[in-house]
Amino acid sequence: MKAWVFYEPGKHQFEAVADPAPAADQVMVQVKACGICGSDVAYHYGMSSLETPNGKGPLILGHEYTGQVVAVGESAARLFGVGDRVVLDPVQYCNACAVCKRGQPNLCENKTVLGVSTNGGFAELSVSHYTGVHKLPENVDYVTGALTEPLACATYALQKAEVHPGMSVAVFGMGPIGLMMQQLARAAGAAKVFAIGVNDYRLEAAQALGADLVLNTRESTSPFYCVDVKAAIADATGGAMADRALVATGAVPAMESALEITGRRSVIVYFGLPGDDARVALPALQSILWDKTIRFSWLAPNTWPAALDALAGGLIDTKPLVSKTIPLEDTVKGIEAARTREGNPMKIVVTPS
Ligand SMILES: [Zn+2]
Ligand SMILES: [Zn+2]
Repeated sequence: MKAWVFYEPGKHQFEAVADPAPAADQVMVQVKACGICGSDVAYHYGMSSLETPNGKGPLILGHEYTGQVVAVGESAARLFGVGDRVVLDPVQYCNACAVCKRGQPNLCENKTVLGVSTNGGFAELSVSHYTGVHKLPENVDYVTGALTEPLACATYALQKAEVHPGMSVAVFGMGPIGLMMQQLARAAGAAKVFAIGVNDYRLEAAQALGADLVLNTRESTSPFYCVDVKAAIADATGGAMADRALVATGAVPAMESALEITGRRSVIVYFGLPGDDARVALPALQSILWDKTIRFSWLAPNTWPAALDALAGGLIDTKPLVSKTIPLEDTVKGIEAARTREGNPMKIVVTPS
């Protein structure tokens, strides 16, 4: 088959490799669509290490993918058959370690991750443990289905935010995940949604999706430019400040701003990935006096069924989330565009077949 093999930053090659073969507990798919994630960009440019034993390639990247089943191992055949339309949960936990046995699979230390520690979806064929395979609802196409993984992660963050009807919700970072969170918050009953970011084209998408207030904290030439986010949120909430904040960017200033613009009994969820050495300055006394809850959100334990139902039920508008589909051979061009933001990309999706 043809696949992109990542060797090391700067060495990422499109080549012919041996077809994988499914073990007894695996399913093999012909990959139909695989989203490019910020972490693929980070691996490609050497900004973070793979989760292979030595942190290095060779490895086929890509972890947000759908496919059609072309072969099943013996034990996998109980649940899946050739021809099934499926989406793969890349985070494949061991279900045997002490952490898994406590019911915390997202924190499993033995987990393998397709496209991160074992071969992923920037290829014509891929194998997955059958417990990580989900059937795609009939009305969800392969490209939309490739959004399931980020949507499942966003869903978990929303669960932790405990958004209730009538609340005001601020979302920081209006990439595909932020736009998903904005819509999930609205679906959960948020009366006001505030979109805060640094790129106008993404903020325009947030506005088109119905954000009540759109703020650009970086570009002074932006029509959405705002120097004082705290004052803007105070104004929009009659002084109450935001009930909930979801931080879908790793940028520490965004988390610090979330701590500033949230009100009494608020819940703040930090979701974006900061750097190894990042530290957040916490207004401690104010957080106590206002009885705040600060949470973190990592991966998507048990939220895949909800994310698939959300896609099937049209709970969120996915059209603005996928900006482009590209053929397999253009994968690295897509990764480069995701980095340079050339053409104002949202999610770029590779369609190998
Ligand atoms: Zn990802
Ligand atoms: Zn485990």
